[in-house]
Amino acid sequence: MSDLRDLPTLPADDPDGFDAVAFDAAFASQRQLAAAGAYQASNDVLELLLQTCPPTELRRRGEALALLAHQYPRLGRLTASARCASEALALAERLGDDLLLADALTTQAYVYGQLLMGREALQSGTRALAAARRAGDAVREAWALCRIGIAYSSLDNQAQACASVEQALEIAEASGAAEGRFACLNNLAYFWLRRVEEARAPHDAAALAQAVAQARHTAERATALARTSGGPYHVAVSVSNLINALLAGGRLDEALPLLNEFGHLAHDHGYRTLAIEADAQRAIFLRLKGEPQQAALMLEALLNAVSAPPPKLRRLLVRALYETHKSCGQYREALAWLEELGGLERQISRENLVLQTEVILIREQVEQAQARADSAVADARRERARAAHLESEQQRLREHAHALDRAAHEDVLTGLHNRRHAEFALPLLVDGARMAGQVISVATLDMDHFKRINDTHGHAVGDAVLQQLAQLLRHRLRSADLLARIGGEEFLAVLVGIAPQQAAEICERLRLAVAEHDWAATAPGLLVRISVGIAGGAPPLAADSLLHRADAALYAAKRAGRNRVHVD
Ligand code: GH3
Ligand code: MG
Ligand code: MG
Repeated sequence: MSDLRDLPTLPADDPDGFDAVAFDAAFASQRQLAAAGAYQASNDVLELLLQTCPPTELRRRGEALALLAHQYPRLGRLTASARCASEALALAERLGDDLLLADALTTQAYVYGQLLMGREALQSGTRALAAARRAGDAVREAWALCRIGIAYSSLDNQAQACASVEQALEIAEASGAAEGRFACLNNLAYFWLRRVEEARAPHDAAALAQAVAQARHTAERATALARTSGGPYHVAVSVSNLINALLAGGRLDEALPLLNEFGHLAHDHGYRTLAIEADAQRAIFLRLKGEPQQAALMLEALLNAVSAPPPKLRRLLVRALYETHKSCGQYREALAWLEELGGLERQISRENLVLQTEVILIREQVEQAQARADSAVADARRERARAAHLESEQQRLREHAHALDRAAHEDVLTGLHNRRHAEFALPLLVDGARMAGQVISVATLDMDHFKRINDTHGHAVGDAVLQQLAQLLRHRLRSADLLARIGGEEFLAVLVGIAPQQAAEICERLRLAVAEHDWAATAPGLLVRISVGIAGGAPPLAADSLLHRADAALYAAKRAGRNRVHVD
C-alpha cells in the first residue's frame, strides 16, 4: 500500500555540476508532457531531475516537487503526493513565495480530501486561498476554492461544497483558464450526484429532481468543455458523470451512446479504474433497462476478473450487485452482497486510516527536517558571526601589538625613535658598518638652556620647540641616518658611512639651521640653539664607548660656550 520506497532520493550528489539552463528546459518540457496527460512519463523524468538538483536550488526544487505532488494522485500515489506537497510547502515557506505556497497547499488539500481528512483538507485549502489572494493570482484562487469544495464534500457537506466550487467557477470563467473551469464543472457535477444520493434516502422528490437536473446540467457543461479543450481523460471523467446523471434521471436512451463512448475511451487509453467504472455503469444501465440477471452476471465477472479490482472499485461493484438483486426481489443474494459491502467498507476505512497516519507522519517528518535545516542555518550563521568576531578581535590584537611595539620604540612627543630603540639599534649599526668596512659617526645634540625656554615661554612652548626641532633635524638628515630622542632635550644621530670630520660639517649645518630658524613664530623672542658632540671613525668600535665619547665632546662644547659643534 505504501509507495514511499520508490520516491525520488532527494539530495543531489554534485551541486557544482548543476546545469540550471538544462534543468529549466527539461522541466518546461515535462510540464508540457504532463499537460498532455502523460503523467507517468513526466513524473519519471521529474524524479530524475530532482536528483540532479542540489538542495540549495530552493525554487527549482520547490516547483518540481509541486508539479510532482500535483500529478502523483492521477497515478494513484497519494502518499507520494503528500510527501512532495509537504516538501514543496516547506520550501515555499522558506522562500516566502505565495505562488508556490498556493500550489503546494492546493495539492495538499486535494490529497487530504482524497484521504477523507476533511478538516486538514479545509485548512490547507483555506491557506492556499489566502496565499493565492495575497499573490493576486486568480487562477490559483479558483483552484484553492475548488479544493475547499472537495474538502467540504469529504466532510459530507455537499451544499457547502457546491457553493465553494461555484465561487471557484466564477473566478475561473473570468480568468479564462480552461483547465480550472473544467475542474470546477466536473467537481460540481460530482457533488450534485452526491446530492442525488442524499435526496434519495429520505425520498425527497423535489430535492431529488433538482439534484438530478443540476447534476446533468453541470456534467453536460463539463463534457462540452472537455470535448473542445481537454484531453481524452477529461472527456472520459465528465462523460462518466453525465451518464450517472442520466441514469439517475431515467434517461436510458440518452445514456446509451455515452456509455459506448465512455467504454471505448477508458479501454482504448488504458484508464483501468475508469474502464471498470464504465463496465459497472453498463451493468446498472442493464438493470434499469429490466435485465437484472445480465447485469448481475456482468458485475460478478468484473469482481472475479484476473486482476482483482482495488477495494474502492470492488465497493462500487458490490453495491451495484446488492441493488441489482434487491431490484428483482432476490433478497437472500441481496443480503449476502450487503454483508460483503459492510466488510468492504470496514476494510476501506481501515486502509484509509493507515494512509492517513502515514500522511500525517510524512508531514511531521518534513516539518522536523525543515526545523533541523532551519536550526542548521541558524548554527551556521552563528558560527560565521563568531568567526567574524574572532577575526576582528585578532585584527584588533594585531593592531594593538603593533601599537605597543611602536610605542616601545617611538618617542610619543616627537615621533622620532626613543632611547630604547637607539640602544637597540646603535650596536647593530656599528656592527653593520664593521662588516661592510664603513666608517661611522655618532652625534649627540642637546638644546642649550632649554630649562630657560620652559621657564620663559612655558612648558607647552617647550614641547612645541622639541617637536619642531625634531622635524628640522629629521628633514636635514638622510632617511637612512638614525635619529632618536634619547633624553628630555637630547638627541642622537648615527651617520653610517660618514667620517667624524664630515659629520662635523653636517652638524654645523644643522646647528646653523636651528639657529636661523624662525622660532619667533612659535613664541615672540624665542631663540633656540644647540650644542653637538661627535665621535666616530672606522671599525672596530664599541657602541658604548662611541656614545660615551660623543657625550664627552658635547660636554666640551657646552663648556666652551654652547651653540657649537665639538669632535671627540
Ligand atoms: P644646558 O644648556 O646645560 O643643556 O642647559 P639646559 O637647561 O638645557 O639643561 P638642563 O638639563 O638643566 O635642563 C633640561 C630641561 O629640559 C629640564 C626639563 O624641564 C626640560 N625638559 C625635559 N624634557 C622635557 C619635555 O619633554 N618637555 C619640556 N617642555 N621640557 C622638558
Ligand atoms: Mg640642554
Ligand atoms: Mg640636556
